Amino acid sequence: MSHLINKTSLVTGASRGIGAAIAKRLAADGANVAITYTRGAEAAAQVVKDIQQAGGKAIAIQADAADANAVAAAVEKTVATFGGLDILVNNAGTAIPKPFVESTLEEMDRVIDINLRGVFIATQAALKHIPDNGRIITIGSCVGERMGTPGLVAYAATKGAVKMFTQGLARELGPRGITVNNVQPGPIDTDLNPANDEWAAPQIANTALKRYGHVDDIAAMVAFVAGPEAGYVTGTSLTVDGGTNA
Ligand code: NDP
Repeated sequence: MSHLINKTSLVTGASRGIGAAIAKRLAADGANVAITYTRGAEAAAQVVKDIQQAGGKAIAIQADAADANAVAAAVEKTVATFGGLDILVNNAGTAIPKPFVESTLEEMDRVIDINLRGVFIATQAALKHIPDNGRIITIGSCVGERMGTPGLVAYAATKGAVKMFTQGLARELGPRGITVNNVQPGPIDTDLNPANDEWAAPQIANTALKRYGHVDDIAAMVAFVAGPEAGYVTGTSLTVDGGTNA
């Protein structure tokens, strides 16, 4: 497939997990790909290598999603390397599972800074470059719409917020043909949410399909929204959750 040929994408938080799968899929569809990471330099380099070995173009940039200067620099490096930026995927995110009454302000700030403020920061920086008919895609969560488990109050609040961020921004950017969408995963087997963890069984029970999803399930939806066939899809939340919210 080559429907993203001559397009450049930036995927935040893509050294592992869902972000790495998105980066590889966008590259397979023909896009140049820049990825960001915080600590996983080796893992990020491996993602770049995998893309290059498959014939694609990629770079990795260290940039904490909560650090506005680092994210702005990552956007500028992407543009300097590939000559533009067409597709932003706000994927970097974190959760600190614990009961709300036991959560510290620092923990809640960290979740908000990465999952919500980080989306604002990256999107503003990217919009300095994203042309008409570009794409802004955020990875929210099925818990942004319905909550089936305790222990994720602040996390769910940020994912509900990016849903409305998506709807609001779609209204502003629609006249330029730029689409803004929110892809909402359910339980996907990653370091953040391992399928063999004690938290897994209740999540599986909550799905209609009675199983975890794979990172490629999310990458496929992102690739669709990023592509030319999704030009009339904007301001929406696309849930890929095995029926968790059914
Ligand atoms: P992982 O924890 O497995 O991977 C997170 C990735 O993001 C890593 O590459 C990590 O890089 C990077 N990262 C973490 N913090 C930052 C930061 N502050 N700035 C930049 N990069 C960062 O997470 P998932 O792949 O599971 O999750 C990806 C997204 O999907 C998140 O937004 C998450 O909320 C969402 N999601 C995930 C679900 C799941 O079941 N897995 C379900 C619903 C939503 P490094 O190693 O360098 O820190």
